[in-house]
Amino acid sequence: MTFRYRRSYRGPIRSVILDWAGTTMDFGCMAPAVVFVEVFRRQQVPISMDEARAPMGAHKRVHIKRISEQDAVRERWQEAHGRLPTDDDVDAMFAEFVPLQLECLSEYSDLIPGALDAVEQCRKRGYKIGSTTGYLPEMMEINVRDAERQGYVPDSTVSAGQVPAGRPYPFMCLQNMINMQVSPVEACVKVDDTVPGVEEGLNAGMWTVGLAISGNEVGLPLGEWEALPEDEKQAKRERAYRRMETCGSHYVVDTIADLMPCLDDIETRLARGDRP
Ligand SMILES: [Mg+2]
Repeated sequence: MTFRYRRSYRGPIRSVILDWAGTTMDFGCMAPAVVFVEVFRRQQVPISMDEARAPMGAHKRVHIKRISEQDAVRERWQEAHGRLPTDDDVDAMFAEFVPLQLECLSEYSDLIPGALDAVEQCRKRGYKIGSTTGYLPEMMEINVRDAERQGYVPDSTVSAGQVPAGRPYPFMCLQNMINMQVSPVEACVKVDDTVPGVEEGLNAGMWTVGLAISGNEVGLPLGEWEALPEDEKQAKRERAYRRMETCGSHYVVDTIADLMPCLDDIETRLARGDRP
């Protein structure tokens, strides 16, 4: 008989790579959404919050372009301007987006309940804490400073724009591994509240945890989410879980406060030779 032997990593998790808005801070991922709406309003093209949120996770210029490619938005643009939006329009809106986003980021930079505790538990286990984001480096300066003030300091932060391509490409995750000098990819877990953010981790070959409630999928600040009647909560929860599960997340939980049991399970699977 002929056999081939396959090498498998059986060690522990070595790094957890966390998204920012909707994952560790800004419950509901509000900060970018409100600014996208404002930028289009200034072009006399009103868009809904759902339209603004659809491409969430991408580099912010790519995000504006994707909003402008939605059929309903193109129709409204055509009505307002007598023509369809162009790349120059996207550039002009992106130029307006940047200062508006910088101005309001700190209004939405509260850490999500459970984030600090999860990070502390990860650190006790010896995991490095990486992070990736669709925000630009100058926006991250503000978020990093606000997070530090609240006690959250990741070992590495990589923004779209510091790598050849943002999400869903794997490069921000892989750059974190380089920055923190961790390997192999099977020892890394990506945690995110958006589909492109989960895909980023999957494309890197990592384990992934999708967050259904605290981020872009439900899209409500903590107070509004808590005030919802139970049946509405349940409907939104089911829809969000389905979205995060069907993009291929290994695990889906409500928020980062529910992360640790997923990591326990991943360690069990790694020990018996499973791969992401
Ligand atoms: Mg996010």
